[in-house]
Amino acid sequence: MEAVRFECRPGCSRCCEVKGFVYITEENLREMAAYLGLSRGAFEARYVYRTRYSLRLRKPRGKQCHFLEEHACAVHRVKPAQCRLFPFWPELLEDARQWRRTAKWCPGIGQGPLIQIGTAHETASEMKQAYPSHYSAP
Ligand code: SF4
Repeated sequence: MEAVRFECRPGCSRCCEVKGFVYITEENLREMAAYLGLSRGAFEARYVYRTRYSLRLRKPRGKQCHFLEEHACAVHRVKPAQCRLFPFWPELLEDARQWRRTAKWCPGIGQGPLIQIGTAHETASEMKQAYPSHYSAP
């Protein structure tokens, strides 16, 4: 791929509805807790599943994310890195087939301005910074 087109579609929330986990950074945890007026400990106890290697949001029953309300993100201003950066994820940009598969359900892919692939990869590099353990070689 030499360039991609992407522009998020207003009112769409499909990427928040697909099955998967939302991983967060310690900074995301602090920001989301502050945004909701909770202490870090209270936010973590209620919304976060912590393992030795990662932090991820707990899922409520029957939907993918606690913070998806009426097709909108209740913590949009401080949303986790993977949500903010989607679809500029290394695993999608580095694999044209994955990008095309994602385009089948994300209506923003293929829309909007042309983005040079170098710029897209630069954005995606934030994912590697935010989640180093997910991208480090085995
Ligand atoms: S699925 Fe695509 S168009 Fe829809 S909200 Fe997510 S990024 Fe935007």
